[in-house]
Amino acid sequence: MSSLGGPLPPGYDAIVVHHHELGLKGKNREFFEGILLRNLKRALRHTGYKKMRRIFGRIIVDLTPDALAEEAAHRAANLFGVAYVGLGRKVQPDLEMISQIAMGYMLQEPFESFRVRARRTYSSFEGKSQLLHEVLGQRIKDATGGRVDLKHAEATAWIELFANSGIVYRRRIEGPGGLPSGVSGKMICLLSGGIDSPVAAWRMARRGCTVEYLHFHGQPFTDRSSVGQAVEIAQAFTRYHPSIALHLIPLGDIQQEIVMNCPAELRVVLYRRFMMRIAFRLAKQRRAKALITGDALGQVASQTIENITTISAAVPGAQVIRPLIGMTKQEIMDTAKLIGTYEISTRKYQDCCVLFEPRSPAIRATPEEAAEAEATLDVDALVDKALQGLETRLFELGEPPGWELAAEA
Ligand code: ATP
Ligand code: MG
Repeated sequence: MSSLGGPLPPGYDAIVVHHHELGLKGKNREFFEGILLRNLKRALRHTGYKKMRRIFGRIIVDLTPDALAEEAAHRAANLFGVAYVGLGRKVQPDLEMISQIAMGYMLQEPFESFRVRARRTYSSFEGKSQLLHEVLGQRIKDATGGRVDLKHAEATAWIELFANSGIVYRRRIEGPGGLPSGVSGKMICLLSGGIDSPVAAWRMARRGCTVEYLHFHGQPFTDRSSVGQAVEIAQAFTRYHPSIALHLIPLGDIQQEIVMNCPAELRVVLYRRFMMRIAFRLAKQRRAKALITGDALGQVASQTIENITTISAAVPGAQVIRPLIGMTKQEIMDTAKLIGTYEISTRKYQDCCVLFEPRSPAIRATPEEAAEAEATLDVDALVDKALQGLETRLFELGEPPGWELAAEA
């Protein structure tokens, strides 16, 4: 079969990373690839990669012999902006070498149908892709008895040739697509312990935003279980974007003021207005360009269009993005399962918003009613005080969290 004496033992020495949104051109594309490269370097730390380089619209990662190849490939395939990842071996543009490696992978696990997919980009390989399809197709067929199926093959021998090198792989892992984290600027997501806000954050992060998280806890009136949820979500998200900041702010005192001084039916809307004001102030400090929430129209009493309007009215000039506004609960839950947050979100925790929850919350609060109710409060002082309670922690993929949870209150 090969002049080099049979297939190489299976193994991997390289990863190829393809990105999404190939419509991008020129400078934009360079910027985009540069950020993806930076994110990859962070995500693949400690996996034993040797070097990474951009070449003709893809990134090639060379692995050391002891690298955690599978782990590195999965880490790469989780990153936003990645369309798919191939895990294989580097080759020279030499038919016998390509054939030997492709054969090694194809003999690794049995299949009924297969195909060969070769692509050349400015390659010094002399033959056309068609030559590889024909020669390798025949050799694989002879060696395995597999049937060629171009559309629904169980196994594919992928061959990519570029300049004076190339990569051959069988393992291909799909990525989440979208844009690499960092190309679209920073936003702050109001993260509760619930199902919705992590999905909202994920959708914006997939559009290239650097998302920082802000969680309000009910201390001193609730325990810190909701903080535990937020921490777990932040940690889970490090697999999609490598460094994450989580901000924690106590809302308990403000809630108490509202309960003592304002009409009961407006409580939830007023809590939310304060969350927005605090978030907007934090956004300015952190140079974030927008706020993100997990509201979906009509899902709960506080999410009627009237209440949403009244909540946003507390932060004139703020850009508030609600990526789930038109989604059904089922669609949101499906996404939460897909991105790995559903299980965390459905655990029991003490949500600050159910503190002193009124029996019949207002369904259509107006900005005027809200402002009137807040007239008895020193809004600025309350916001200042809440911000003084800010704690910020950083999370990195594969690293322990940058802090210890405080003892339960
Ligand atoms: P979620 O599932 O995200 O909790 P929800 O459907 O339960 O959303 P609400 O509880 O009304 O809706 O919250 C609406 C939005 O307000 C949340 O998606 C989130 O962005 C924000 N929010 C609510 N509670 C908190 C909190 N404790 N800390 C930070 N943000 C919050
Ligand atoms: Mg909630």
